[in-house]
Amino acid sequence: MDSKPYQLHVLFLPYMAPGHMIPLVDMARLFARRGVKATIISTPLNAPVFSKAVERDGQQGHDISIRIIKFPSAEAGLPEGCENLSCINSWDMHANFLKAMSMLQQPIEQLLEECHPHCLVADMTFTWATEVADKLRIPRLYFNGTCCFSMCVLDSLLRYEPHRRVDSDFEPFIVPGLPDQIKTTRQQLAEYLKQTTEHEFTKMVNQISESEAGSYGVLVNSFHELEPAYCEHYRKVMGRKAWHIGPLSLCNRNIEDKAERGNTASIGKHECLRWLDLKEPNSVLYICFGSLLEFPAAQLREIALALEASGQNFIWVVRKGELMKNGEKTKGEDREEWLPEGFEKKMQGKGLIIRGWAPQMLILDHEAVGGFMTHCGWNSALEGITAGVPMVTWPLCADQFYNEKLITDVLKIGVAVGAQEWSRHERKILVKKEEIENAITQLMVGEVAEGLRKRTKALKEMARRATEVEGSSYCDLNALLEDLKAIKSTSC
Ligand code: UDP
Repeated sequence: MDSKPYQLHVLFLPYMAPGHMIPLVDMARLFARRGVKATIISTPLNAPVFSKAVERDGQQGHDISIRIIKFPSAEAGLPEGCENLSCINSWDMHANFLKAMSMLQQPIEQLLEECHPHCLVADMTFTWATEVADKLRIPRLYFNGTCCFSMCVLDSLLRYEPHRRVDSDFEPFIVPGLPDQIKTTRQQLAEYLKQTTEHEFTKMVNQISESEAGSYGVLVNSFHELEPAYCEHYRKVMGRKAWHIGPLSLCNRNIEDKAERGNTASIGKHECLRWLDLKEPNSVLYICFGSLLEFPAAQLREIALALEASGQNFIWVVRKGELMKNGEKTKGEDREEWLPEGFEKKMQGKGLIIRGWAPQMLILDHEAVGGFMTHCGWNSALEGITAGVPMVTWPLCADQFYNEKLITDVLKIGVAVGAQEWSRHERKILVKKEEIENAITQLMVGEVAEGLRKRTKALKEMARRATEVEGSSYCDLNALLEDLKAIKSTSC
């Protein structure tokens, strides 16, 4: 379908990893609801994950579609069918996956020339996207999937390098130049930040920041009222254009959209809701560590023991049979060894284990859920906020330690489990049963819990208002669309 003469046509290019693809697809759907012709570029095995939601939107009269391009698995040395970061099970494969991403430049350039959209929204990982958009003389919008707070903390770390002035990995230091006093340790920072020589990621990180700096601006899955000081800091101190148009997850309004978001769930939506319907409001703890990361058996056992001792109802998502060992995933091995003897039987009616993919939005939105133990991936953190559910924070890597500080120190809607160690693979430090149990109890019962819940519910209301007509996110998207229309009319 051609776009109408007055209509904006925007192409969306999501990175092939659940935590990046889910919000960018939501974003495309949001743009389409605002009258934009939205085209999502995807690959044969990624598109089916969201094609039904796109079809439903199409049936409601929104101008949204998917363009499929081939994923160069074989050419990049990846096994057939490996088109998503969640299939990667070794560091060699990871390098090949990045190679495949760079090989997508040429077919996407061709696609852009063919469709001639008015704007390209591309994930941060497509480091060549700004250059490609420049060739076509259209704006490239940058999306990195985190919040403003985390972007500001990272910028201050890079700018002032406070981590180079402490004597040990454990010594706390203040991240300078920020609106609040944010403390961290060297142990909680990514490896590439700590190295003195060039790290394998340094080149890619530099390419990403160059492509961000050259882009027309940044789209943020957040809302102004959540982090006003950091929205200002980002614009004024870092000097970049940003539009806060979230929470993007709020575009999933019906039960199908919520239940099918991101993957096929390993539990039926009715079964899941029936289980939750039997529980009192705010009585269930939901535990999920995102789409990619897994714990070793010993850590899972500590969680199981803590859950039992806490006496709380729970839904626990465990990605089945792919536990991490020395940075390699092992299929099937260790599968159930982590469960203490007879655990599931003992917990029957009290606890539900979901092996695989959980319908996270459906669960968080249920009134029975009163707490969320999360790795603080930004999507999960924001989904917790949007559902009004306070959190036990357990960051592991990526931007998760920064997100934790926003939740616990700035917004004061979470209890830290006490994770200290940034690592993508093997962890040297186990979080013990007693620490986990303690955090769960603080989150779920008593005066502290009441305060956390009250503050989170207030943010939930702000999130909803931000996305309604005249709300801050609604207006930010309006302003962006007006800008894009002005650019379109001058280039016609
Ligand atoms: N998610 C889900 N079910 C699962 C695991 C994850 O729906 O069993 C969704 C979750 O709602 C979120 C995304 O996957 O939207 C994970 O993104 P996040 O940024 O939280 O973490 P990542 O997976 O990128 O580490």
